[in-house]
Amino acid sequence: MSNLARRGPVGLKPDGPTAADRAAGRAHMARVAQLPCIICGARPVEVHHCISGRFGQRRVSDFDTIPLCARHHREGPFSIHGNKALWVATNGPDTDFLPRVAALLADHDMGAVEMIEAAFGQGDEK
Ligand SMILES: [Zn+2]
Ligand SMILES: [Zn+2]
Repeated sequence: MSNLARRGPVGLKPDGPTAADRAAGRAHMARVAQLPCIICGARPVEVHHCISGRFGQRRVSDFDTIPLCARHHREGPFSIHGNKALWVATNGPDTDFLPRVAALLADHDMGAVEMIEAAFGQGDEK
């Protein structure tokens, strides 16, 4: 009995995401995917799991994600997966954008995204 007591209530798994956690993560990623690229404001974007400072940690949270266009995400010399060192030297660690993404999501219904797009001059994007 003492062994069970130390392990906590049977059926509770404090370690690892639950189905609800995973669903919340997917919902968060779907919202991130609706934002413009956090670097240049372009659309559409891909959802990038932050890789800065994540060495040795296998699982990256779906909440540690930022919106990046293909050019800043996977394709070409300016993409973080193509040349991480250059990307970080130019833009800073990808994790630095997490607070900005959170702020954008919080302001999503207040026209903040439209303001950002206007600032980037993406209004006439095809
Ligand atoms: Zn971009
Ligand atoms: Zn990525």
